[in-house]
Amino acid sequence: MKEKKTFYIQTFGCQMNVNDSERVAGLLQSRGLQAAQAAADADFVFLNTCAVREKAAAKFRHSLGRLRRLKSERPGLRIGVGGCVAQLEGEALLERAKHVDVLVGTHTLHRVPDLIEEAGATGKVAVDLDRKADAFAIPEAVVAHGNPVRAFVTAMEGCNHVCSFCVVPRTRGPEVNRPPDDIVREVRAVVARGFTEVMLLGQTVNAYRHGDVDFAGLLALVDGIEGLRRLRFTTSHPEHVGPRMADALRELPRVCPYLHLPFQSGSDRVLASMRRGYTRQQYLDTIALLRDRVVGLALSTDVIVGYPGETEAEFEETLRVLEGVGFDGLFAFTYSPRPGTAALRLPDDVPEEEKRRRLHVVNAHQQQWQRRRHEACIGRVEEVLVESVDGEGRVSGRTPHFRIVHLDGSPALVGHAVTVEITGAGPNALRGRLAQPIH
Ligand code: SAM
Repeated sequence: MKEKKTFYIQTFGCQMNVNDSERVAGLLQSRGLQAAQAAADADFVFLNTCAVREKAAAKFRHSLGRLRRLKSERPGLRIGVGGCVAQLEGEALLERAKHVDVLVGTHTLHRVPDLIEEAGATGKVAVDLDRKADAFAIPEAVVAHGNPVRAFVTAMEGCNHVCSFCVVPRTRGPEVNRPPDDIVREVRAVVARGFTEVMLLGQTVNAYRHGDVDFAGLLALVDGIEGLRRLRFTTSHPEHVGPRMADALRELPRVCPYLHLPFQSGSDRVLASMRRGYTRQQYLDTIALLRDRVVGLALSTDVIVGYPGETEAEFEETLRVLEGVGFDGLFAFTYSPRPGTAALRLPDDVPEEEKRRRLHVVNAHQQQWQRRRHEACIGRVEEVLVESVDGEGRVSGRTPHFRIVHLDGSPALVGHAVTVEITGAGPNALRGRLAQPIH
């Protein structure tokens, strides 16, 4: 009997890309291919790329270079490149990478299996970078979700914002909101497959609008789905947070009390140059509104340090916002000039070493704060949805506030919601003891 062909996917970047890879993996499996553990064992290797920062793009180029060597040893190997770098660079990418067989953009991932066949049949590169293609063409039934409890469901693609630093509108195009019925159908389908948590995805997910249904309306529709235990979403943009969204966070029982809300900078001059559409005070007012309506809301954020022209005083304004708000999580980045963005015209004048120092300062502050925040959780009893096995007799999961909890337990706990007494705390996670299974 002929052995099944195998594939391996390497993913760079955000949850959107992770979800895209889950779709491609599922599609390939539905066509009879089998997942391999490593690129070296695969007949087809797919690199799903991220263009948001130069570091991610550089990691991709490094992986692509390694595949060149692998292909010279094994000429039958097929190589695919997809996602944001592919969309951004287009066929120019092929000039430098003659070993690539398949090139797809952000909207044409569903074509991967056909393009592998086409490349095999013609011996030429098979390319589809059509931006107007249906980005939602891969059916939920085949998606190979990587997490045993949490399924990603895309609510909207693309972005209509014009942030000066951000390449996403160029790679993923303008906003496309999925009809709410499609989203509800997909959530029902993932729940029927046994997933109890759903994370709705979109670059600015809370800008969602389809006909009369706004984001709060969408949350209400999904929240009503029988069998769903937890509902999350990411990423939200401060400009689209209002009382209706805050009330949805408070009132809808399955919506978790956690929000990721990037502020990027605490300096009004920098925010204006970034074209973020809000001032520091407006951001802080939004946080106040949320905290007023949603008691105990956990918040995380993104910041960029070393944006063009950022002075020490402006950087300190970012630090002040971090200190003032007390976020539960922080993703901090050094500014990275990206092709085709408005900020590219500004001098990238904060020296790399200084960017790294600022990054270290915000991260060190955050780690200290998170440790204190987590220590205050000791003694509490939390619901933990167990999602992974850490090692022999050890598992971990998340609280509704998205805090990671490690505990002793058997792999049989994965997929279960359990009550856990918090017994220890570090900056990045809690430690707990099983109190009693919830179900
Ligand atoms: N769409 C979301 C938003 O508008 O907030 C976030 C998308 S982006 C993939 C995630 C984070 O990467 C951003 O919030 C920002 O902090 C960071 N980022 C984006 N472009 C960057 C750049 N050129 N340099 C450094 N960080 C960047």
